[in-house]
Amino acid sequence: MVRATRLVILGKQGAGKGTQCVRLSQHYAVPHISTGDMLRAAVRAGTEFGSLAKSYMDKGDLVPDDVITGVVSERLAEPDAHQMGFILDGYPRTVGQAVDLEKVLLPLEIDLVLDLVVPTELVLRRIASRRVCKVCGANYSVQAPPKLDWSCDNCGGEVVQRDDDTEVAVKRRLDLYESQTAPLVEWYTEREKLVSVQGEGDPDEVMARLIAAVDRAKGQPKW
Ligand code: ADP
Repeated sequence: MVRATRLVILGKQGAGKGTQCVRLSQHYAVPHISTGDMLRAAVRAGTEFGSLAKSYMDKGDLVPDDVITGVVSERLAEPDAHQMGFILDGYPRTVGQAVDLEKVLLPLEIDLVLDLVVPTELVLRRIASRRVCKVCGANYSVQAPPKLDWSCDNCGGEVVQRDDDTEVAVKRRLDLYESQTAPLVEWYTEREKLVSVQGEGDPDEVMARLIAAVDRAKGQPKW
């Protein structure tokens, strides 16, 4: 049987996690589990949970740990993630969530945490230009728009700027990243799980660096 691959990706807003995770998920044949995408799907579906999540998201605040951990643990229990592994994007985002994730996964554990490192000036530029499909959540940018008139290439949905990509909400999210999420770099380094990968440059180059990092770790005896 093929050994599962359980990955977490860290990186500031706009570091390129979403783009790279789509590729990594194809390369390692594991589901890409993005808490941001799951929450936006709940908002689109108009559920009670979605409107609760939206009230935090629009301000750039974090959804409470217990709420998000509940959503993630349900998803991780599904057969694809359970059998093949996963790439987790947007979770954990606090040390409390990392502790929760350890418990949720027992007796298994995360194999590797990839920290995608990009300077703040660059992420600010990327966020200002990024666009997303309102219907399926596919990512685009002003530099790489859909083929036809801001209609999604996958589903034809309208491609727009995210509601939480306003200047105020972006600043709040980057501040929260520094105070709440950046401490995870040290936390996972202490547990010998972390590898930092340079996120600047062409997406294909970044992808090659990420795959090299994962394959190197896979070659280690403890994998
Ligand atoms: P970004 O990384 O640009 O902030 P995401 O798509 O990862 O975007 O998340 C969007 C929003 O969803 C966050 O600002 C937050 O409100 C909420 N969210 C996503 N993941 C989590 C999480 N692990 N814990 C708490 N809130 C979360």
